[in-house]
Amino acid sequence: MSDADVVVIGSGHNGLSAAMYLAKAGWKVVVLEQSQVPGGAAKSGEVTKPGFIHDLYATNLGLFLGSPVYRDFGPMLTQSGLALEVSSEPYASVFPHGTALSMYTDAEKSLASIANFSPEDAEAWQHLVDYFQRVSPYLFPLLQMPVPSFEFGRGIFRMTRALGWTGTQELLSLLLQSPREFVESWFSSKEMQALLIPWGFHLDYGPDVSGGATFPFLESVADHLNGMAIARGGIGLLVHSMINIIKGYGGQVEVNAPVTQILTDNAGHATGVKLSDGRTIAARRAVLANVNIRTLFESLVDPTVVNHGFLKRIQKFRFGPGTMMVHLALSGEVPWLNPSVTRSMYVHIGPYVNDVARTYQQAVAGYLPDSPLLVVGQQSQWDHSRAPDGMHTVWIQVRAVPGHPIGDAAGSIVTTDWSTMGPLYAQRVLDKLEEYAPGVTSRILAMTVMTPQDLQNDNPNLVGGDSISGSHHLDQFYFLRPVPGWSRYRTPVPGLWVVGASTWPGGGLNAVSGYLAAQALLKSRGRH
Ligand SMILES: Cc1cc2nc3c(=O)[nH]c(=O)nc-3n(C[C@H](O)[C@H](O)[C@H](O)COP(=O)(O)OP(=O)(O)OC[C@H]3O[C@@H](n4cnc5c(N)ncnc54)[C@H](O)[C@@H]3O)c2cc1C
Repeated sequence: MSDADVVVIGSGHNGLSAAMYLAKAGWKVVVLEQSQVPGGAAKSGEVTKPGFIHDLYATNLGLFLGSPVYRDFGPMLTQSGLALEVSSEPYASVFPHGTALSMYTDAEKSLASIANFSPEDAEAWQHLVDYFQRVSPYLFPLLQMPVPSFEFGRGIFRMTRALGWTGTQELLSLLLQSPREFVESWFSSKEMQALLIPWGFHLDYGPDVSGGATFPFLESVADHLNGMAIARGGIGLLVHSMINIIKGYGGQVEVNAPVTQILTDNAGHATGVKLSDGRTIAARRAVLANVNIRTLFESLVDPTVVNHGFLKRIQKFRFGPGTMMVHLALSGEVPWLNPSVTRSMYVHIGPYVNDVARTYQQAVAGYLPDSPLLVVGQQSQWDHSRAPDGMHTVWIQVRAVPGHPIGDAAGSIVTTDWSTMGPLYAQRVLDKLEEYAPGVTSRILAMTVMTPQDLQNDNPNLVGGDSISGSHHLDQFYFLRPVPGWSRYRTPVPGLWVVGASTWPGGGLNAVSGYLAAQALLKSRGRH
């Protein structure tokens, strides 16, 4: 049996983040990744055609750039090869009859784009941006603190002192709204309302789910102010840089190394892991799993060492609806009916709030939506290294589809098996894109479709294609994530820690759970 101070299961960005801090502190770190390619939901590759580099899943680095990990390791990541491309045209929405609403980092251009639909909404947007700038210095730090904690309480106190008691309650009231309530309370035009709604859907907030306003509020304004950043040459280079740092501190990262069991001693303490090839690795201080909480406790941990009540709670941890990816290699750019969105990093095609609400309802009821929400990513418009001259990559995130469909809301796809449904549903996606960009399909040189089943096969954390490893609805978010009583990365198995999107603060490249768990481990020196 070989050994380490800490064995990290999984090379998602949270596992790698924790590994960087622990290796830097002198711990002997071994990261074990089941896939051939590290990075989890942060991977890139030439999946359509040689010369066309696609981010397979995550692409927008905004959260990562605001993370403590980037603060602490940014210069080293850059030295190890990470470079950024930042789009000053972060997002847009297109609507019928060739209309579109685009956001820019340039305030005046954004206001003019909104004023095309409603001068009052342009004024309201300016108020929303001002409000964001007032509250975000208090709100963002809270999203990077352990919950519950003394530190978090102090953060709330600081916020209350700055905003006043009423101001704090007003903010709370906004955060608890559904996305629809939020956009309707600020804006009157249906285009401006529709522009913000899809940001809730990047998590699993359909327009009418309470608590979903947080994400459209924060993401729409943050991307407008900062632009949208991607990694030059593909997000895989971020992962590559993180691994270089770990190795530089003496850590090891092994791919094709699925962990099949957490080893425990007679007292029920985690002592190491067993791999699928039969090897075992002892962990002197901790096993840190970058594995979603359900898979961890349903597949890797011996149920007899965990109390029944905890297992019951874990079994109730819900996943959100799935996602499907369609990657295109194009001979030219997307021929949008409205050319103002040609360089927008993301173009959302809902089009309107009620359409997105219907899509969400159909997906959660188990039906293939008759008209899915499309997030069309145009990375090669900003990163020219991703496609040959004059040609382009297109990244389409299809939100949302059921992981295990029971039927088709449009009634035309009769199979319910993703391997046969994938190409049929991709055609529906292309038909919708073609409505807003006539001629786009004639520019397709190659296409790769990744169904929810493919997502899960590649990364067991994406259960049913859930891109964020578990619903973020209020009953399993904040201090309730992943389950009540266990929001601070420890588990009932002493010596076993858990990080990743199924833990606070949830999905996205925020790197926070990796950071916070590493700090807690270093403080406790691995004692539980
Ligand atoms: C299609 C898609 C688009 C997205 N877009 C964005 C975006 O633009 N911006 C953004 O911020 N977020 C985005 N997200 C969300 C974000 O990518 C994820 O929330 C985040 O990457 C999750 O990181 P993680 O640390 O939880 O680990 P994961 O990325 O889930 O990685 C965990 C790793 O652990 C490995 N593993 C699991 N079990 C085992 C085992 N038993 N043995 C060994 N290895 C194991 C897996 O193979 C995987 O590599 C997107 C997600 C998807 C799927």
